[in-house]
Amino acid sequence: MRRKLAAGNWKMNGLGTAQDELRAIAATPTRQTDLLICPPSTLLERAAIVASDTPLEIGGQDCHANPTGAHTGDISAEMLADCGASYVILGHSERRTDHNESNAQVAAKTLAAWTSGLTAVVCLGESLKERQSGQTLDVITAQLAGSLPDGATGENTVVAYEPIWAIGTGLVPEIAQIDEVHTILRAELVKRFGVMTGDAIRLLYGGSVKPDNAAEIFAVPNVDGALVGGASLKSHDFKAIIDALD
Ligand code: PEP
Repeated sequence: MRRKLAAGNWKMNGLGTAQDELRAIAATPTRQTDLLICPPSTLLERAAIVASDTPLEIGGQDCHANPTGAHTGDISAEMLADCGASYVILGHSERRTDHNESNAQVAAKTLAAWTSGLTAVVCLGESLKERQSGQTLDVITAQLAGSLPDGATGENTVVAYEPIWAIGTGLVPEIAQIDEVHTILRAELVKRFGVMTGDAIRLLYGGSVKPDNAAEIFAVPNVDGALVGGASLKSHDFKAIIDALD
């Protein structure tokens, strides 16, 4: 039985004052849902202190594939773990677009995350052009194959399906479209990693998840939770999404 995961991606948002929102999120009672917030790296250590002795986990939003070295501005998986992070988001479409990250680079970062004991939240999703030209399933299966190294398990990996055109736009795919993609992703995971492991890897949906659409999305069988951007910045909204999942 897969546990649910409510994951918040704060992107480049949040100053020290955001600790109040974190405190409120950390205090949300849950039965079957794991809680994760990925703040900007400037807040990681403070967030980890707020989250200590609570069920809230803290994650990074990216890591370098190398453990140390001359990579100005980058941060390694080991550094994230050292700050108290237990997860890291990798291959977010904003990284793939802004920093030209390839599937191979995402796979290398995923290996680095595992080496430091982090769970990788590996993101994939099609553009609007790819959706409109009927390429969605080809794109997401190629991203899945290229971004996940051998050795993925239910403990070290979470996969997040995030259609690029749904991120931060208020647009959400039809429920049948989410169902179709998540069904294919599950089948691909089972084919590659076997039934036990393929069934254990959690699949999140991300893209304009809000309190008013969360319950409908979470009713899709292979949706094990959400990766939430904008609505995770306000504890009130994120708690409503957690409640819909739990
Ligand atoms: C995201 O950035 O991963 C995301 C899903 O953002 P939003 O919820 O704001 O669409």
